Amino acid sequence: MLAKEIIDELRRLAGPSNVFTEPEDLIPYSFDGTAAMRQMPGCVLFVGDAAQVSNILKLANATKTAIVTRGSGTGLSGGSMPSKDCVVLCTVRMDKILELDRANLTMLVEPGVTTLQVADAAAAAGLFYPPDPGSMKISTIGGNVAENSGGLRGLKYGITRNYVMGLEVVLPTGELMWTGNKCVKDVAGYSLKDIFIGSEGTLGVITKVLLKLIPRPAAKKTMLATFSQMDKAAEAVSAIIAAQIIPCTLEFLDRTTIHCVEDYAKIGMPLDCEALLLMETDGHPAAVADEAARMEQICRQTGCMEIRVAADDAEGAKLAGARRSAFSALARVAPTTILEDATVPRSELAKMIRFVEATAKKYQLRIGTFGHMGDGNLHPTFLTDERNKEEMHRVEEAFKEIFDEAMRLGGTITGEHGIGLAKKSFLPKFLGEAQMRVTRQLRQALDPNAILNPGKMFD
Ligand SMILES: Cc1cc2nc3c(=O)[nH]c(=O)nc-3n(C[C@H](O)[C@H](O)[C@H](O)COP(=O)(O)OP(=O)(O)OC[C@H]3O[C@@H](n4cnc5c(N)ncnc54)[C@H](O)[C@@H]3O)c2cc1C
Repeated sequence: MLAKEIIDELRRLAGPSNVFTEPEDLIPYSFDGTAAMRQMPGCVLFVGDAAQVSNILKLANATKTAIVTRGSGTGLSGGSMPSKDCVVLCTVRMDKILELDRANLTMLVEPGVTTLQVADAAAAAGLFYPPDPGSMKISTIGGNVAENSGGLRGLKYGITRNYVMGLEVVLPTGELMWTGNKCVKDVAGYSLKDIFIGSEGTLGVITKVLLKLIPRPAAKKTMLATFSQMDKAAEAVSAIIAAQIIPCTLEFLDRTTIHCVEDYAKIGMPLDCEALLLMETDGHPAAVADEAARMEQICRQTGCMEIRVAADDAEGAKLAGARRSAFSALARVAPTTILEDATVPRSELAKMIRFVEATAKKYQLRIGTFGHMGDGNLHPTFLTDERNKEEMHRVEEAFKEIFDEAMRLGGTITGEHGIGLAKKSFLPKFLGEAQMRVTRQLRQALDPNAILNPGKMFD
């Protein structure tokens, strides 16, 4: 139990109406987007500014109280899942867009602003913020930075890290630190901001983010290609990349996912195929036309069944929206959906997709696979029921084999969802001894009392 004196002090620091301790108030914060993980916190509090965060961390550091920072709780590796009796520090009320600098093409925001709000504000100024995780309507920029999230446009435009120019961070001691600036070049000292990107709430609390914006692409074309075999779709993706075409989006959906999405979104997805590629190219109109024609040709050469071109931007947005709903659509058909993000070099996609299929068969599991295939990033998703312990054991065994195979093919255990609790046991094998030691030393240097997100990533 969290001591009464600590709760009283938190009420004084954050304001009594911003601190919650009743079980019915804590339950919604006892889990995140990750399946089969739950833990009640000691209290939940909402912060309004960096000064409050600083005072709260000073108190936590002095009393060795665990703090779990939380954005919208959409994380898929247990990153914002509470540790026992911790303080959940919610940033969603720090939700202001502080500055849009048209001269430098930057935007300064608080961490609780949603990804969609950033994208919309950029678009309203005629600019573009490309990172677009499937959860962008609700995920926060703080969460995106802490997880270094990717999205559907990652193939051409990169991930969150590529758009972070500066950060304000409250260190575990309560000290406020700025790192980065509006300069497009800056090599003074270590690139400290990069340590906090992808740090999953273990090194500091991000209280401001300076984002890079870019010009909006002039034109866009969206296409769907259908395949009678999953590995043919994977081969088409590898061939597109090998032909040095880098479209904005190259997304994959297998038969199960297509049917679930259509059942959910009802937008007339083709149902007579085993796999589908959603392809989007953007940029100068002439380049768009050329890339689209070359991708169509490659898909035909690799044996696609049909190519459908979206009539206009509205239809394109509908198709991309349907892809974004893949996880939610799969989640409707089974009590527990366990989604992973094994990632391989793009030349190995066909091998990986065959392996995932064979593993699901071996362990007699229902699976839907989709993902950012152009990034080599697959989301094999087991449709299961956490109350069935025997089946959950088979799911665990299947994932162990999938991650081992991803590593054997030169891939990684997570392309975008992070380590958190879900992948913690795989990290030492993936990083190896030297990288694990440096990682621990870094954590120890910044957070010697291990108050921030204890037990996440590693013990
Ligand atoms: C339907 C769905 C689709 C998704 N699609 C994608 C996708 O396409 N690509 C992708 O990469 N991810 C995706 N995700 C995963 C998830 O949305 C991202 O990881 C997202 O960035 C999490 O943001 P959040 O605000 O919900 O953070 P949370 O889940 O609340 O937190 C995530 C981590 O960040 C830390 N954190 C949060 N805010 C701060 C802060 N201010 N300072 C320090 N640490 C902080 C937390 O402690 C935790 O470790 C998806 C999730 C869902 C449910």
